[in-house]
Amino acid sequence: MQKRNYQAELEQLMEQLAQEGRRPTLLVHACCGPCNTKVLDTLAKAFAITVLFYNPNIHPRKEYDKRCKAQADFIAAFNDRHQHDVQFVEGKYDPRRFFEATQGLGDEPEKGKRCEVCYELRLQEAKKFADELGCEYYTTSLTVSPYKNTEAVNRIGDELDAEALSTSQAKFLHSDFKKKNGFRESVELAKEYGLYRQNYCGCIYSYTSRFGAMGKLSKENIEKN
Ligand code: SF4
Repeated sequence: MQKRNYQAELEQLMEQLAQEGRRPTLLVHACCGPCNTKVLDTLAKAFAITVLFYNPNIHPRKEYDKRCKAQADFIAAFNDRHQHDVQFVEGKYDPRRFFEATQGLGDEPEKGKRCEVCYELRLQEAKKFADELGCEYYTTSLTVSPYKNTEAVNRIGDELDAEALSTSQAKFLHSDFKKKNGFRESVELAKEYGLYRQNYCGCIYSYTSRFGAMGKLSKENIEKN
């Protein structure tokens, strides 16, 4: 079966909205500042955006705080530079939820089963916020990264849409922001904005697979944070 081109679908929708003269509301779940540079650059003309930083996967707490601040700083600078009015909201930092959901999946490789659970947690929360705020659409910056499973992200969005109880609920916006050099552009934009860039995906498992022994990042220390 031919693979869907999610980014082309998104571009088509944006063209259609421009023809209709509509600028719908959109909740963007952001995994980090650097990835979200390309996402806002692509979407802000077509949608009235609220960015949600909900990432209970990130450890330890001080790393979470750094990434959250980078996100808030980026949005302020982006609004300033482009005269946009992107809103920012921080979700709850609840690492216990991440640990419970990914129990037994610590040895999974990146892009594997644990990551799918991690995407789903964050998309569920994005949908919840989008519905509470009355947004027409919601999406995520996760598809900028070549280290994420884009097919899984978009499939999970479809599954959440299928579970929706009413047609007035926010609809998932498919994407593949890494297309057409999207990832490279996000790296360049992040440099331009002087954003903090992390060197591991986020969870303790990605930290240890990158840097070896758990060291100070033991699960006990993390849960105290
Ligand atoms: S590697 Fe990244 S996407 Fe996968 S579970 Fe860890 S934080 Fe989530």
